[in-house]
Amino acid sequence: MYNNYQIPAKTASFIDVEEKHGAHNYHPLPVVLSKGSGAKVWDVEGKEYFDFLSGYSAVNQGHCHPKIINALTEQAQQLTLTSRAFHSDKMAGYTQYITSYFGYDKVLPMNTGVEAVETALKLARKWGYEVKGVEPGLAKIITVEGNFHGRTINVISFSTDDTARNGFGPFVSGYVTIPYNDTEALERAVQDPNVVALLVEPIQGEAGVYVPDHGYLASSYQICKANNVLFIADEIQTGLARTGKMLACDHEGVHADILILGKALSGGVLPISAVLADDEVMLCIKAGEHGSTYGGNPLACAVAIAALEVLKEENLADRAEKLGQLFRSELEKLNHRYIKQVRGKGLLNAVVINHPNPDAAQDLCIELMKNGMLAKPTHGDKIRFAPPLVISEAELLEAIEIIKKSLAVLDEN
Ligand code: PLP
Repeated sequence: MYNNYQIPAKTASFIDVEEKHGAHNYHPLPVVLSKGSGAKVWDVEGKEYFDFLSGYSAVNQGHCHPKIINALTEQAQQLTLTSRAFHSDKMAGYTQYITSYFGYDKVLPMNTGVEAVETALKLARKWGYEVKGVEPGLAKIITVEGNFHGRTINVISFSTDDTARNGFGPFVSGYVTIPYNDTEALERAVQDPNVVALLVEPIQGEAGVYVPDHGYLASSYQICKANNVLFIADEIQTGLARTGKMLACDHEGVHADILILGKALSGGVLPISAVLADDEVMLCIKAGEHGSTYGGNPLACAVAIAALEVLKEENLADRAEKLGQLFRSELEKLNHRYIKQVRGKGLLNAVVINHPNPDAAQDLCIELMKNGMLAKPTHGDKIRFAPPLVISEAELLEAIEIIKKSLAVLDEN
């Protein structure tokens, strides 16, 4: 299973206990981490690694960023939770800060990514009935093949991934699926007057960093506008400087009607997500119609402001753009016979492995781990490479050397 890798004894003891008492809904690499700083993490044996997953792009600002941890610990000593039954002094500043940061009238704070997706879908339906005038119960939302928006029953209802869906029905209706990166299919789908929104990832991260043609987002937005359909951008993974711009939609000058953020909104410190929209959409949801005990808690507000400040103060979007180009060009230069494609934007990248052994991507990840880099295969043959954006050029070059060295394992298989 691990390509003859001998798991060290201390590591194995943690894994055994977790296997025994924890649910088996993940298949982690056999490494047990206990510390992180910047682009690096350390395991219980004291071994150092470059983190090239970044908590699925949550840790854009680097592990335990001092400014974010400082905001966390200071606020933790003042007030952590009020629930939205009362106001908190932190909520006012946060709502003002994040709405002006992204240029929207209002924010609705939630916790996990999928909760924010659910919120956006509810908003779109409500807008469809109250503003667009769709008959009650008939609203439809367009989603695309290969999507990943989280794990609730509603959200997997429109997943096209059998592993995510099988055994979890019955599903929620009201979704129409079209191919990704296909504006003609979108043009046809929006002709249905009951369609209220398109939900789309600007780059499909979980699908294996699938980058649509340049122009796809702008054309899709125009088609939505022309047909009175909301354009919802799920930027949970692509957002917040990861792809070389603050938002991946910024590459095409698109300002989504509903913007969904999560992950790096806390720099990997707390589950913090947000939905942003203008009043015409956001005010469709009234008091009592939606909420969350922890959404918008004072601790989250303080952490999110610090996390957003770090992105700008440290020019992380520019750094992602520059280092991403370096990363792709160095891997392309290898012209490696088992690498079919290197793709991505900014520091959200993937390589597609083409090897007769179906476990080759997993074997390569084990070899990378042995050599001091953590990355994970997605959908079998792809490996995502997404380090914290604070990684230095020297560190990136060091990490690329690890990849080059590790690729030799493919020749042995
Ligand atoms: N949407 C996208 C694009 C994601 O990549 C993810 C998580 O990977 C989610 C939604 C779900 O976020 P969470 O796991 O925080 O619920």
